[in-house]
Amino acid sequence: SGDVVSGMLERIDADLIKFIRLQFTDILGIPKNVAIPVEQAEKALTEGIWFDGSSIEGFTRIEESDMLLKPDPATYAILPWRPQDGRVARFICDLQTYGGKPFEGDPRYVLKKTLAEAAKMGFSFNTGPELEFFLFQMQNGRPTTEFVDRGAYFDLAPNDAAEDVRREIVLALSDMGFEIEASHHEVAESQHEIDFKYSDALDTADKVITFKFAAKAIALKSGMHATFMPKPIGGINGSGMHTHGSLSKDGKNIFFDPNGDKQLSDTARYYIGGLLHHARAITRVANPTINSYKRLVPGYEAPVYVSWSTANRSALIRVPAARGNSTRAEFRSPDPTCNPYLTFASMLAAGLDGIKNKIEPPESTDVNIFHMTATERKNLGITMLPGSLYEAHEALLADPVITNTLGNHVVSGLSAITTAEHDSFRMAVHPWEIERYLNTF
Ligand code: GLU
Ligand code: MG
Ligand code: MG
Repeated sequence: SGDVVSGMLERIDADLIKFIRLQFTDILGIPKNVAIPVEQAEKALTEGIWFDGSSIEGFTRIEESDMLLKPDPATYAILPWRPQDGRVARFICDLQTYGGKPFEGDPRYVLKKTLAEAAKMGFSFNTGPELEFFLFQMQNGRPTTEFVDRGAYFDLAPNDAAEDVRREIVLALSDMGFEIEASHHEVAESQHEIDFKYSDALDTADKVITFKFAAKAIALKSGMHATFMPKPIGGINGSGMHTHGSLSKDGKNIFFDPNGDKQLSDTARYYIGGLLHHARAITRVANPTINSYKRLVPGYEAPVYVSWSTANRSALIRVPAARGNSTRAEFRSPDPTCNPYLTFASMLAAGLDGIKNKIEPPESTDVNIFHMTATERKNLGITMLPGSLYEAHEALLADPVITNTLGNHVVSGLSAITTAEHDSFRMAVHPWEIERYLNTF
């Protein structure tokens, strides 16, 4: 580790770095950081840097608020949109409390712990998230919900007003070590998507966080606001974060079986069974805002029913056509407000539970579920995703596999957040109510 540190310090020196950002995330998945001058790099890399964790959402009580930031050398990256004269680099950090104990409220730790469980079974977990977002106009220094373009799926300029912004985001992310696979205008006006290559779930969770703040910083340079809010505008598509997941053993995809039904292995089927079984509880972390539930409604390519399919996109889990090493299950409910560490950990725990307990998924449904009657759905055993944050939280609390995965600290943080959000929303009078009732009553 002395070698790692001196190698790292040489690289920092050669890159002409002046400031180092020590980055982590709170329970909500909001990135936080503290900047240190490069002279502190050695100390940060060897001992870590103490900070006061009591003001971070869902972290600690006042009396035990000191927290140690331990940079993960593998996450070193230069921030390309910051000044190149006096450059800024960042490390993503693990959080420790006294005596080098991992901090249980650190979402990154929750994922690492779950990945270690999978490793005991010989598995590694790969995820491939697809982030969608809107670009809106800034006016007087404030974000609005005014479109920057009226483009649609795969449109070109001038219907697509963001080709240059996407280009800048793609170049910056590539500089930061992303392997970008595609970028395009999405279905809704002013909506966009940029896809990067799947990899190990810890790496992709780190990348999701980086993606969001990089996109925001770069959009702002063009006077636009990038938002990952799932449903900023009613009546048009919202933004999802579909997450493709697969398990491998000794570097080999274990979801593929040329002789299996649909060429899927038993492991893949049980993984899907587990994911469906725990889907309602996972919704609490995959869809963590009041607004998330405005997206999970029929008619906008977002899932509503707990089902799986090899063909249609109305299902919660879709198995894309590719087989061999690309065999995977696309989980379509997560939205980009989710904390990726907690979401991937919950998905993995659900999948492992399915494998351990051989949970058979119900029959796959290859027709559009939105066209079925309630009775038809009932006969096929198709249930619904929770309709609100409150309902999702109840489902989480009723699911010991997912709550054990998240741990007490995170679950009680989520409980406090749910109550606060639910009460605040419930007490607000919304424009819809004025429109509906003011005149009539
Ligand atoms: N925007 C859709 C969603 O909310 C997904 C569209 C797509 O399939 O890319 O999930
Ligand atoms: Mg998309
Ligand atoms: Mg997709």
